[in-house]
Amino acid sequence: MAYDPDNIFARILRGEAPAIRVCEDADTLAFMDIMPQADGHVLIIPKEPAETLLDLSEEAARACIATTRRVAIAVRQALGQPGVYVAQMSGAAAGQTVPHCHFHVIPRGPDAAYRGHAAVKADPADLERTAARIRACLEP
Ligand code: AMP
Repeated sequence: MAYDPDNIFARILRGEAPAIRVCEDADTLAFMDIMPQADGHVLIIPKEPAETLLDLSEEAARACIATTRRVAIAVRQALGQPGVYVAQMSGAAAGQTVPHCHFHVIPRGPDAAYRGHAAVKADPADLERTAARIRACLEP
């Protein structure tokens, strides 16, 4: 299927839609999921327009996994949970709802409340506070 340049993550990349940003480099952007499955749920996306991981160039895939790892390390430290769940859905049949490739980083542990997929919209002020804690834990 052709890439839809008006999907919400493409609009975030162009600055046309708001996002609470965690970090950005030449190839990737990380921002807070507005309906977090647990506090500290971050999404990592490539800047390259690709609907799924399978459509992404190998170079962009490498950049995504490097950013995902960097963010996951910071999320684990910032949220104080022992585990981090990393997920990537490719295709609606796999549960993908936004047609721009993305990786989920979700803290997991005994104290990490689990809220289900895209179920409850978070308070933006809470997301801002959590993003600041994650940013403070990012390795350069
Ligand atoms: P998926 O089902 O893997 O495509 O996940 C899409 C994710 O994007 C869900 O976890 C949603 O909560 C999240 N999401 C949808 N719209 C936005 C948005 N505007 N900003 C941040 N996260 C979003």
